[in-house]
Amino acid sequence: MSSPSRHAETLAVHAGRAPDPATGAVTPSLVFSSTFARDEQGRLPGGHIYSRTSNPNRAAVESALAALEGGAQALAFASGQAAATAVFAALAPGDRVLLPDDLYHGTRYLAKNEFARWGLVPEFVDTSDLAAIATALQRPARLLWLETPSNPRLKISDIAAAAQLARAAGALVVVDNTWATPVLTQPIALGAHLVLHSTTKYLGGHSDLLGGALVLGADAPAELLARLRSWQNLGGAVPAPFDCWLLLRSLSTLPLRVRAQSATAATLAAWLAEHPQVERVYYPGLASHPHHAVAVRQMAAGGGMISFEVRGGHDAAKAVAGRVRLITPATSLGGVESLIEHRRPVEGPDSVTPPGLLRFSVGLEHADDLRADLAQALG
Ligand SMILES: *Cc1c(COP(=O)(O)O)cnc(C)c1O
Repeated sequence: MSSPSRHAETLAVHAGRAPDPATGAVTPSLVFSSTFARDEQGRLPGGHIYSRTSNPNRAAVESALAALEGGAQALAFASGQAAATAVFAALAPGDRVLLPDDLYHGTRYLAKNEFARWGLVPEFVDTSDLAAIATALQRPARLLWLETPSNPRLKISDIAAAAQLARAAGALVVVDNTWATPVLTQPIALGAHLVLHSTTKYLGGHSDLLGGALVLGADAPAELLARLRSWQNLGGAVPAPFDCWLLLRSLSTLPLRVRAQSATAATLAAWLAEHPQVERVYYPGLASHPHHAVAVRQMAAGGGMISFEVRGGHDAAKAVAGRVRLITPATSLGGVESLIEHRRPVEGPDSVTPPGLLRFSVGLEHADDLRADLAQALG
């Protein structure tokens, strides 16, 4: 089922699925039951005992996610943040953790405000700069966290080179692959021990579910897997069966969606870069992006996310977000519908995001319609 010789399009449709032996149903059945009956010998015929521990719909989506990321194991969580919590909780008090200076603000606050109290020692580094990583690794670190492209400035970190540095220093490597998705980047093949997803975004793809996942490479330490499994089961932040069912269904179209969104985003990023009201465009597919060469090596396309700064800073950006008509002004990303967000005000007091930055999640609408909406909103 998860044969590594199969292509992403094929895995997206088939991994984690097989006709139901009981009914012949081609589409997976939705199993709502919280508990599972034992047979006369006291065995559990389906291998499931209780839905916090495992459930058929969750098992199916975990096996599909492992296959898509080229990993050995996947663990599904109730949100991306629940998955990140499990990673931090799997470490030990006193462990030093290196994180990107530009990353999803929820991860920043989780590390800084919650896990620092608990004893982790988070340190923020420009992970797009290998020399900065090497310097930070001169002192013992337990984990290097990468997020590439980063949220919201689309910095690109060189996963293969950074993983080599981290592994040589004895650190674990986790990559938040939410923005690139396994369709564009395969962090485990590039040297990561662990991949994190907010499945709420591209993997779910329709803005109708909340979820997270961790995928472990075959060489991830057994103790790490045991701790993450334990945290998933005992912490209990697991996704509901219906969310797993929706996610598995959405994975079928993931490669098609991400390629279409990337193609439209590339067109719009090039257009925005020429627009007189736009000061700067952050898109790794543009040759002008400072890490374009790494992006070309590590990403199959530039992705569906664009950030851009409008002239006039905070007020101008707020006005543009208020004038879009087709694009929806809302947080989140990766859905079929385009979303735009004035990012700094939602990131809180520690935000390092430029005040005029708009984060644009390109949906599946026609590029010409999106361009027309942006043109009228930019004025
Ligand atoms: C949204 C997001 C998260 C958090 O995921 P939730 O599902 O909202 O908990 C983590 N990382 C990145 C890059 C994200 O965009």
